Amino acid sequence: MHKRVNRIVVVGGGTAGWLAACRIAAAADPAAPEPLSVTLIESPDLPIIGVGEGTWPTIRGTLAKIGIDEAEFLDATDASFKQGSRFDGWRDGTADDSYHHPFTAPVDAAPRDLIAHWQSVGGAFADAVCAQPRLCAQHLAPRQRAMPGYAGAVNYAYHLDAVKLADLLRRVATERLGVVHLRDHVVGVDATDNGDISAVRTRESGKVEGDLFLDCTGHAALLIGGHYGVPLIDRSGVLFNDRALAVQVPVASDSPIAAQTNATAHAAGWIWDIGLPTRRGIGCVYSSSFASDDDAEKTLRDYLTRTAPGVDHDALSFRRLTFQSAHREQFWRGNCLALGLAAGFLEPLEASAIVLAELSIDALLDGFPVDRAAMALHADRFNNLFRYRWDRIVDFLKLHYVPSVRSEPYWRAHRDPDTIPDRLRELLEMWRTQPPSAADFPHADEIFPAASYQYVLYGMGAPPPLASAVRSPAGGETVGDAAQKMAQRARALAASLPTNRVYLDALRRSEPLVQKAIHV
Ligand SMILES: Cc1cc2nc3c(=O)[nH]c(=O)nc-3n(C[C@H](O)[C@H](O)[C@H](O)COP(=O)(O)OP(=O)(O)OC[C@H]3O[C@@H](n4cnc5c(N)ncnc54)[C@H](O)[C@@H]3O)c2cc1C
Repeated sequence: MHKRVNRIVVVGGGTAGWLAACRIAAAADPAAPEPLSVTLIESPDLPIIGVGEGTWPTIRGTLAKIGIDEAEFLDATDASFKQGSRFDGWRDGTADDSYHHPFTAPVDAAPRDLIAHWQSVGGAFADAVCAQPRLCAQHLAPRQRAMPGYAGAVNYAYHLDAVKLADLLRRVATERLGVVHLRDHVVGVDATDNGDISAVRTRESGKVEGDLFLDCTGHAALLIGGHYGVPLIDRSGVLFNDRALAVQVPVASDSPIAAQTNATAHAAGWIWDIGLPTRRGIGCVYSSSFASDDDAEKTLRDYLTRTAPGVDHDALSFRRLTFQSAHREQFWRGNCLALGLAAGFLEPLEASAIVLAELSIDALLDGFPVDRAAMALHADRFNNLFRYRWDRIVDFLKLHYVPSVRSEPYWRAHRDPDTIPDRLRELLEMWRTQPPSAADFPHADEIFPAASYQYVLYGMGAPPPLASAVRSPAGGETVGDAAQKMAQRARALAASLPTNRVYLDALRRSEPLVQKAIHV
């Protein structure tokens, strides 16, 4: 018998739940013979995690598909622009140890030619091949107000207030997209003989029946873990961090707003520093095997003293979070798909969590199962693709540690070959003789493409491979010409783009910005 998939029930009202509800409701065809219904159930007892301030450029497409105007989003979520990440102290911990992983790809050239060009001009790899680090150094916005929404002169994402994002998505879902919102606590699951979930039972509103259930219950993983018992695969032998101490620091209304996430290494982990118009979100990520909670607090307070002088630490509220770097063995089982923290979590380096939820929703909508009978095939395909994606993220995050020459036990342990995944070990061996290239990453939609690996590998000080005896195919622009054009473009952009502060303050006051022409 063919059972149509029409009733979508999302359990959990954090970033993952509301993104899913909005995307599905926005994609629903109202003229379909049996239109989709979307219900989101959110516990009044359990707050959302409320962290998750760094995003990936995919978020622009996600918000556009939901139908949210960019200016409305920036204002409602206290957001700022993010153009990548800067890593301080990861290589050797000395004062000039700093590199960028910008969102914009290097100039278009064969990887070997990029390396040869970088070697000929010297300096940092990212500076030699990309305009974006220079824009970040000046705290510039990636776009002008006159540009169409979500378009940029360079690639970008956002820093945002996660609680305000969930609020905005809830309003859009319920007021514009017809999502039914139940504030109720799920206390049980009803299942059919084949294990499918037929309904979730709530404390106040009784049963909520559905055809497809999205488990967005965060670390509780009520359906995928609680009902189906799908185990977690522990990745903490590769990525050691399991704690964070987070704080929000108010900033002066005229202070510059950083254009990138700053990630500063310390003896047993790293510190994130994310600039919003009204505050900085700062958090010390660490491994409890290498640092005590007191050590981490001292590290964070020292960082605050250095980077936020004059701020009264006693007036701040410090929040401790614990996590495990782990993901589910399967993400889709029966008629339940897990998204967000319910699917898993890896330490927040490179902000890979929200993007994984976005890509999961894309994959669900790309191959939306029309009826229950089709679901098993969709689930298999989804599980294979997302196991690949989680593995690649584990590799990429580990890459940030392996080339380090820092001497503390935590950093030495990260270089232990037994903690390096096999595939990454093989690639690192390969990259001694040739740079990371597209051939190393065969999937069409890699979250972190070869360019990301190049930025991190050479930013971390890995020696460039020896010059090859084989030339790149002739024809087209030389890398030197392309880099020269890129440098000209960087100068033109620097002269014409407003700073983040100027852009965002004018937006909040709803003033038109005086636009300077961009000549590139
Ligand atoms: C320290 C730290 C830093 C992070 N930084 C980043 C970052 O920079 N970038 C990034 O992309 N990600 C980051 N993340 C991850 C990010 O916060 C999450 O992926 C994202 O917020 C999604 O969370 P969620 O919606 O899955 O879960 P949550 O926000 O925890 O929401 C869970 C929801 O489930 C509901 N719920 C639970 N049980 C029940 C029940 N029985 N009945 C009904 N409802 C229930 C709760 O009420 C809540 O609404 C970070 C995470 C941590 C721990």
